[in-house]
Amino acid sequence: MSKKRIKIPSENVLFEVSKDGVAILDTTVGMKDVDGNMTALCDLCSVDIGPMKDIKHIESPEVISRVVKHGYRPEEMLRKSAEMLESMGETNEAFIRDIMDKTLKSWIEMVDKSETPWALCENCHGAIQAYMKHKEAFI
Ligand SMILES: [Zn+2]
Repeated sequence: MSKKRIKIPSENVLFEVSKDGVAILDTTVGMKDVDGNMTALCDLCSVDIGPMKDIKHIESPEVISRVVKHGYRPEEMLRKSAEMLESMGETNEAFIRDIMDKTLKSWIEMVDKSETPWALCENCHGAIQAYMKHKEAFI
């Protein structure tokens, strides 16, 4: 296997998880030198989308920010967060809903501040495209 180094923009988000949800403390953007064969994850739902050098779907932070402003929600990410809380033994539905609300708010804040392209899987890319088409008149 060839070792190909590629440069990708990377964003480090420093966040804190507490009973009040997720708080973003700081974000820094820079270029990162990575192995092109390293596996990339979807920025929306964290599924494996293959090697970095072959990422098929990339959206600009402006596009993501725009669809979110128009009501797009990362259902898959939220579902996984809820599952994580449940797997931690949390059964209080009101509490879970409350944390989810806060998580979503922090996520929207993060989208707003994001300055790097988003790598997306087939599903999330399709969902964003469909959303944009559906909401075309508003964008
Ligand atoms: Zn995805």
